[in-house]
Amino acid sequence: MIQGFCITGIILVVFMAVCIVKMGSIKKEIVNTMRFLFSVAILTVLCNIAAVLTVEETVAMLMHGLYFALTDWLVVALFYFAKHYTGYFEKNKTVVRLFSFLSIVDTISLLANLYFKHIFYCEWTDIQQGAFEYSCYAVHTRMPGYLSHILIVYSMALFVIAVFFVKARNTIKLYRRKYDVILYSFVIILGVNIIYRFVNIAIDISVIFYALLAMAIGYFGLMYIPKGLTARLLSFSVKDMSMGILCYDLEGNCIYVNDMAKRLFGQTQSSDYEFFEKYYAEWLEEQGDEELVDTTWREQQIEGDKISYYETKFKRLLDDEGNFVGAYFSIVDMTEEIIKYERERYRATHDELTGIFNRVGFMEQVHMVLENDPDTKRCMMCVDVKDFKLYNEMFGVEAGDKLLIKIAGIMRQEYSENIVYGRLSGDRFAVCMPVERFDEQRITNYIKTAAEKGGNEVYHVHIQLGIYFITDSAMDVSVMCDRGMIAIQSIKQDYQKYAAYYDETLGDQLHKEKKLISGFEEAMDDGQFKMYLQPQIAVDGTLLGAEALVRWMHPVDGLIPPIAFIPLFEQTGYIHKLDMRVWELACKKLAEWKKMGREDLHISVNISAKDFYYIDLYETFTGLVKQYGIAPKNLKLEITETAVMTEMSKQLKLLDRLREFGFHIEIDDFGSGYSSLNTLKDMNVDVVKMDMGFLKKTEHQDRSRIIMDSMIAMSKKLGIAVITEGVETEEQVAFLRTAGCDMFQGYYFDKPMPVEQFEEKYKVS
Ligand code: C2E
Ligand code: CA
Ligand code: CA
Repeated sequence: MIQGFCITGIILVVFMAVCIVKMGSIKKEIVNTMRFLFSVAILTVLCNIAAVLTVEETVAMLMHGLYFALTDWLVVALFYFAKHYTGYFEKNKTVVRLFSFLSIVDTISLLANLYFKHIFYCEWTDIQQGAFEYSCYAVHTRMPGYLSHILIVYSMALFVIAVFFVKARNTIKLYRRKYDVILYSFVIILGVNIIYRFVNIAIDISVIFYALLAMAIGYFGLMYIPKGLTARLLSFSVKDMSMGILCYDLEGNCIYVNDMAKRLFGQTQSSDYEFFEKYYAEWLEEQGDEELVDTTWREQQIEGDKISYYETKFKRLLDDEGNFVGAYFSIVDMTEEIIKYERERYRATHDELTGIFNRVGFMEQVHMVLENDPDTKRCMMCVDVKDFKLYNEMFGVEAGDKLLIKIAGIMRQEYSENIVYGRLSGDRFAVCMPVERFDEQRITNYIKTAAEKGGNEVYHVHIQLGIYFITDSAMDVSVMCDRGMIAIQSIKQDYQKYAAYYDETLGDQLHKEKKLISGFEEAMDDGQFKMYLQPQIAVDGTLLGAEALVRWMHPVDGLIPPIAFIPLFEQTGYIHKLDMRVWELACKKLAEWKKMGREDLHISVNISAKDFYYIDLYETFTGLVKQYGIAPKNLKLEITETAVMTEMSKQLKLLDRLREFGFHIEIDDFGSGYSSLNTLKDMNVDVVKMDMGFLKKTEHQDRSRIIMDSMIAMSKKLGIAVITEGVETEEQVAFLRTAGCDMFQGYYFDKPMPVEQFEEKYKVS
């Protein structure tokens, strides 16, 4: 009997020791409490075995005493475990303190028992139990000492049981078993322990139960997950998924279908899986005899005008050895994603304002058309609204948008299949069409009507076309568009032309322009820009001054006229640098003339519309006249009306300040603009400059003369002087003189010439 008891005890001790080592470090807190529990259990068993085996009374007394004390600490350890396992008393230290205090008191009392024997005493006893006969130091308890120990142990144990009980009751059903198993093992072992107390056996085998309890807790607390909990949790998460899940076993029985799948198949009402089994069976039949593999496919479902897109995955389920154990389908409703993708794609390839293809979409589409049908002869037609920026500035962005929408509308109406059209950028459109569909007459007529519709009484929208006949359909589409634009570029300055065709020489033109732009910095550094002067003559024939006109003395290309580079530099943002150079040359010259006593002469300089954006004109001009010590009235500023059209009130204020400072302001090219008469009303200017050239262009000479005549008369009434440039004939001089013009400039008198020549000829010295 003793041997059996001891061997069992030793086995348990070894087993628990192994557990302590192997517990690992997951769930750290729990593992620590469990290590504590196992250690106390081991000590309890060891003390008990020693107490039974000893033949020394004192040792027996000590070991029994320790064993009793350790039962206290076993319950304390259990409480620690319960704390972490249930999450109760996590913050509350009172119970732990109370338990520890009771156990310490009890431990001291049990050790004192060695001398006082107030709790128990040991007596060597021969015991006869059934067929077994053995001798050992048996325990004889003494009341009330023993009772107090029992009370402490059992009340603490009952408290721990209560903790598990309350936790189990307060937890949702799914998790209750996690606590129940420990609660039941605890109750059973405690029950057995109590029964044992009444069946008076000399050896306290309840210690074995303590060890078993510790191990039961170890197993349930760490390893055991209530059966079905995983499965249930998984099924909850799958049930809730936004994808449909259908699960089948090896025989093709449907074992699980989540809510989403039911919804997707319209089977929300049916509770049996017959429908889904049929679905699987039919699918398997479609696969034929081929071995099943994991696959993914997309399907479309059309219901009325609603299209839905689904992505279905078939996956085999394999066990650890790779055996086929079942399969599942996952079905995702892709409708939203696909619609979103299509919307995004639409946005990426279409112009938001007009709804037709944007640059990207147009290029893509043309590329596709050319690739699919490379043999049809096609042309690329670019469309550009002339002075669109100005139109925007004059009538507002909204009106500009309306115009663009109108153009897109015409394209939509005119062009159908086989013709691709789109808006490349801003005011530029392009159309790619078979050559036989291209009809210049028809298109220009269209443009003219569109222009009339787009404009108003004072402004006619001017639209220009650049056509490139595609010779190589493999050519980059953007190059084709560039060529169309180059063609437009060649007629940019010409208001009479609507359409231009690309040819290789135009490409050369573009090349030349690029060369001019890249040569700018060097030309500035080398002083290749020269100021030419064209005299301005009074009615009586005397010299009043000159207009400064720039020339580019190119080391290779020779003299380049401003018309060839001014617009380019305006586009590239260089113009203000060039203008400032010319202004400085003019001021220098005025300073020289002043020294010579010719303060009566003035120089008019040109100001580009772009200069207003890039520099502070007030600072620049006042700075220049101060630097060179010249009178501001001698530096006349030529400004076109369109230059002040943007931010009108701001620019008009600027001009007023310049005038106040003493500069004379001239409106250049007066009469060529869009609302000249209005300008005179608003702009405070000193001189208006009319161009004879505008007269020549019109067919109705007489009417033009009347207009010119009255413009001069009106200016004079407003106290504004008039100068006419482009005067080429004596007859013109005579007419202008009668009309009241004050000054003349033109080839009739002289062409623009180098400064030295001017000075020599007009004896400025
Ligand atoms: P603009 O200011 O209207 O200058 C008058 C243009 O008419 C000059 O051309 C001049 O040579 C030309 N011209 C003068 N008399 C006659 C004539 O009797 N008949 C004809 N057919 N033409 C005549 P140019 O010098 O080629 O200048 C062209 C334009 O370039 C100028 O027009 C002006 O807008 C611009 N420009 C010239 N120099 C500068 C400059 O330094 N800065 C800026 N921003 N623009 C300039
Ligand atoms: Ca001018
Ligand atoms: Ca002019």
